[in-house]
Amino acid sequence: MSYSIQTALIPTPQGDETGYETGYKTADLQIQQDKIAAIGSGLPPVGCCIDARDKLLLPGFVNAHTHSSEMWQRGLIPPLPLELWLAELYDFAPLDPEQIYLSALGTAVETLLSGGTTVVDHLVLIPGREAETIAAAVRAYREVGIRAYVAPLVQDEPFGANLPALSKSEDLPAPAMSTAAVLDLLQDAVQRFHDPAAGINIVVAPTGIQLCSDPLFEGGAALSDAHHLCRHMHLLETKAQKILSQEKYGCSAVAHLKRLGFLNQRTSLAHCVWLDDPDIQILAETGATVVHNPLSNLRLGSGIAPVLKYRRAGVNLAFGCDGSASNDSQDLLEAIKIGSILHNTTDFEYRHWITPRESVEMAALGGATGLNAADQFGSLTVGKQADLVLYDLTNLSLLPRTDPIGLLVLGRPTQAVDSAWVNGRQVVAQGQVCTIDVPQLRQELFERSAWQNPRQSSMRQAMEARYREVMGLEV
Ligand SMILES: [Zn+2]
Repeated sequence: MSYSIQTALIPTPQGDETGYETGYKTADLQIQQDKIAAIGSGLPPVGCCIDARDKLLLPGFVNAHTHSSEMWQRGLIPPLPLELWLAELYDFAPLDPEQIYLSALGTAVETLLSGGTTVVDHLVLIPGREAETIAAAVRAYREVGIRAYVAPLVQDEPFGANLPALSKSEDLPAPAMSTAAVLDLLQDAVQRFHDPAAGINIVVAPTGIQLCSDPLFEGGAALSDAHHLCRHMHLLETKAQKILSQEKYGCSAVAHLKRLGFLNQRTSLAHCVWLDDPDIQILAETGATVVHNPLSNLRLGSGIAPVLKYRRAGVNLAFGCDGSASNDSQDLLEAIKIGSILHNTTDFEYRHWITPRESVEMAALGGATGLNAADQFGSLTVGKQADLVLYDLTNLSLLPRTDPIGLLVLGRPTQAVDSAWVNGRQVVAQGQVCTIDVPQLRQELFERSAWQNPRQSSMRQAMEARYREVMGLEV
């Protein structure tokens, strides 16, 4: 399969650090098989030609942290901090694999239509049907054709251990899965589904220090080494988790994870809101990536991640939407916008602020780097996989004509994605995902759900007094 994308506007390399960089040029791309074969002006066409006049071509972004099945609860959970929000989330009726499949499709479609070509799905597993859950999500991502990192969310400690001073309680129920069972599940998933060349990757993804034992982190790291798998987890999303890590380890969670050997260039860490300067240094030294999820951090009141500090320390950064019940959407461009300008409130030194071009680089190359794949995708580079997005610059939300990347990041682009390719395969054409029947998906999502009123879960009621005590709130 060969084709040309002709007369696209592409950004020229960044200049100095004065802020806005406005260099663009018109270029043609030749795609051969699944890779970018040539970039230049006046290139002879190969195969069929795609007319990209008045369109901006960028590398696809990475939605570097989400939980696809939360789509079924989006817009529903009242304003609550993470620990109580989670109690509400866990108390919903469990889903079935067909719902997992549908919400993975929905997550992929929304990611593609907001500039993403890769998704990291920290996949919540149906208790007792874990392998079926993974199979359902993989099926969806294969059908859509998005590049997927399926990261089964695993834990081997009981829910409730995630709150300080409850972690050693005798009253907690037994965990759903033992450490050995979790590792067996992951091993099986690798054998059945891990196929990087086809765009499906299995990731070792303990939920976080709050619900995982040391043997799980160590066993997961060994599995990751044996199969060259990426590693992913939540890290210090809330103040309660910071208190818990001191209680559990007697040191910071980051120092403990380093000791366990879990942090390296294949590790991406969602949130990282409550890290201290020595922790940041460890991330820089180990080459781990921070995935910034600004909307969920705001929605759950977790805090503002010290992203400007990470940048100055040389820590790689990527953007994530996080699950649709804590965002409550999968609009990657929205996450990039908020995740960029939010930090202007944290530092008066405006020279540290993130420029639109830097935002785009974080979203694309930063995302690829976090997946140890910067040599494979994440930039418009000859020899890389053709993971590409074309934006329609005649779209009303991107007019009048000024700086296209400035408009894309700082504006509110609506339906601006015209086309997208993953591994050289076209997955969006004329503004529509063309690999699956999206009207059918909408109908199924509608029919399998019902209008609901927010309600208070019994699990939340059971936890609330303890949470308030831990956080020093009036009981
Ligand atoms: Zn998450």
